[in-house]
Amino acid sequence: MEATLIKHIGHTAFRDIDTFVQGGGYRAVEKAFGMRPEEVTEAVKSSGLRGRGGAGFSAGMKWSFVPKESQLPKYLCCNADESEPGTFKDRQIVEYEPHLLVEGIIICCYAVGIHSAYIYIRGEFAYGAEVLENAIAQAYSRNYLGRDILGKGFDLDVTVHRGAGAYICGEETALLESLEGKRGQPRLKPPFPAVVGLFNGPTVINNVETLAAIPSIINNGADWYAAIGPERNRGTKLFSVSGHVVKPGVYEMPLGTNLLALINDCCGGIRPGRTLKAVIPGGASASVLRAEECNISLDFDSLAKAGSMLGSGGAIVMDDSTCMVKVAHTASRFFYEESCGKCTPCREGIGWVEKLFRRLESGGGRETDLALISDICDNVKGKTLCPFGEAFSAPLDTFVKKFREEFLEHVRQKRCPFGNPPPDPVH
Ligand code: SF4
Repeated sequence: MEATLIKHIGHTAFRDIDTFVQGGGYRAVEKAFGMRPEEVTEAVKSSGLRGRGGAGFSAGMKWSFVPKESQLPKYLCCNADESEPGTFKDRQIVEYEPHLLVEGIIICCYAVGIHSAYIYIRGEFAYGAEVLENAIAQAYSRNYLGRDILGKGFDLDVTVHRGAGAYICGEETALLESLEGKRGQPRLKPPFPAVVGLFNGPTVINNVETLAAIPSIINNGADWYAAIGPERNRGTKLFSVSGHVVKPGVYEMPLGTNLLALINDCCGGIRPGRTLKAVIPGGASASVLRAEECNISLDFDSLAKAGSMLGSGGAIVMDDSTCMVKVAHTASRFFYEESCGKCTPCREGIGWVEKLFRRLESGGGRETDLALISDICDNVKGKTLCPFGEAFSAPLDTFVKKFREEFLEHVRQKRCPFGNPPPDPVH
């Protein structure tokens, strides 16, 4: 099927508003302006679009939670903080389809009655931020943004805000704190951002890919979108595939695409002479699947049923040369460095887990370390302020459970059986 989100990937011409408009761009804004705001929200709701940031919550439903009347201004925050290891799909939209994102933002703001939107972009994406700023300036110059847009009496300002490169700022309430100029740490929920969000005003927070999907829903209709993909998992999804495949990259496929088909048909299969060992299907916070579990539909529900998650759609593919103890330790190091430290189970738990993985990888581990890791992870699950606790405890525990023999082999041989050198002594 034809791509709708990254149709122009690799072609910089569509950053130019004239080229974008000639190709049918901003037509969805004009169509949406001919509808009542509630009708736009209803169309997004009935399309079945679920948020593409990881949680998979209905986008239309989220919009409808924002109160119609508010004493305080309402806001849209576009989450472009893409920081999940293995995920690099939003940046393709930002860099090659910036106007598609701006178009989605305008439609969302019109539907919800928002006049001020922010794009919170990962600090390292300096280039992407520049591309977006240019696209926004062009949109202002053609009156797709600013006062009395297209003579329809609707005003909207969009601002690009660069973060400072903290993973936790991808969590929606930490993002709000950061945007307000405070330390990026999550807030206690409730109240939810739809009611008390940015500067205490009602706020919609949507991922880049979610907003970029809106123009095609408005142009083609909710039924068109709802006909793509399996029940409850509608539309296309960007999958960023990295690791031991012949052609890593970003692929737009319908939700429900088989993981093995993605690896073999899109990515050219596993590197020659090697076999598939495991896949992390949705970024580092998704639990790993063993090769025999990979004949699975890539959708929110099937992966949840298999004990993993679709998450951001960042598939990390590993062949039989991969040491899973090293992978687990590398992931734990990342989470250890990125914990914001606000709550004890996360701050202390991930530190302990990282040290245990380090010991096992170095060849100094004990068999009892495996049970200890699982015990710590159990004591973190469900006991933290934000989903970060879940994001590291579930996948790290799964490595130990699914690759137990490999961990024990490190204990028996007192070294990495794959011949990897020990990790750096000092963290
Ligand atoms: Fe911070 Fe971790 Fe607690 Fe989230 S779970 S608030 S990242 S310490």
